[in-house]
Amino acid sequence: MKHNFNAGPCILPKIALENSAKAVLELDNIGMSILEISHRTKEFEAILEETKSLWRELLGIPEGYQILFLGGGASLQFCMIPFNLLEKKAAYLDTGVWASKAIKEAKFFGEVNVIASSKEKNYTFYPKDYTIPKDVDYLHITTNNTIYGTELKVDINSPVNLIADMSSDIMSRPVDVSKYAMIYGGAQKNVGPAGVTFIIVREDILGKVTRPIPTILDYRNHIKEGSMLNTPPCFPILVMKETLKWLKSIGGLGEMQKINEAKAKLLYDEIDRNSIFVGTAEKDSRSIMNICFIMNEKYKHLEEEFMTFAKSKGMVGIKGHRSVGGFRASTYNALPKESVQALVDCMKEFEKMKA
Ligand SMILES: *Cc1c(COP(=O)(O)O)cnc(C)c1O
Repeated sequence: MKHNFNAGPCILPKIALENSAKAVLELDNIGMSILEISHRTKEFEAILEETKSLWRELLGIPEGYQILFLGGGASLQFCMIPFNLLEKKAAYLDTGVWASKAIKEAKFFGEVNVIASSKEKNYTFYPKDYTIPKDVDYLHITTNNTIYGTELKVDINSPVNLIADMSSDIMSRPVDVSKYAMIYGGAQKNVGPAGVTFIIVREDILGKVTRPIPTILDYRNHIKEGSMLNTPPCFPILVMKETLKWLKSIGGLGEMQKINEAKAKLLYDEIDRNSIFVGTAEKDSRSIMNICFIMNEKYKHLEEEFMTFAKSKGMVGIKGHRSVGGFRASTYNALPKESVQALVDCMKEFEKMKA
């Protein structure tokens, strides 16, 4: 048995994989695969509609917001956002590699005010002390820093349009969507496979910049065409639908949050108890999705050995990102608690052998 802690693409619910596999062979008795039909068919239109309504229902998306499913990844949004929304100046929180990539793109379009950064401490905490300026077109934040394992677990109040990259913690907890002007992310961390990007945008923020925007990069055109300005990523959308159906079946986001918090507590408690390991993120910034830890100085030389040991016990994807080192266990929605328990057991056993 494999315990899949991959950071993204990552583990998906088994039932979602099974139903998607069926749709690849034949979609609902129509004699053709999901991969073979036009996106203009009533069959695909129904899939798209159901996916959108699952988003609306699970997240409680209010009126006035549009949902788009596009290609290009969260990375394309790093430039599409300022293209469509940055007239003069925007504020950004610099909380990790992804946030700084977003900052880099915004600078092509206007002035960027980085109002807080945790860079000098290698992004080990989520900044709290900052003032949001009122003279900016928007504030951009990254709610979960996938690489460093820090997370902003609350919906902040912002006097300006708040835009959030939620690639790696979307649907992990209930969110007050009304506090955001826009929420976006790549699906491949928590809601589906690679290939589809979700965008939830409050329509009234669009159409305010004076620069011309190429057709395919203008959100308004995608809204007008209902995510069908060009061929949408049909299959990733179907897998996303199946993933969200599973999420609904287990009780939705309130229930999911409880499960995720319990999984994270199980692992963090062991990291704090075990004499060999130490967590890298400051405690009040700890992510419930990506859990980063390294070995204590004294045991640093055993890193490779633990990796091999964990692998032999079925752990997959626990190598830390090169900018943090050590280990990272991603505990996304679909990861069962049993897998976290298996990793904890592994850490306990290793301590018995070595400490
Ligand atoms: C993975 C990730 C991205 C990049 O997503 P792509 O879909 O590969 O462009 C951006 N932001 C965050 C927070 C991520 O975790």
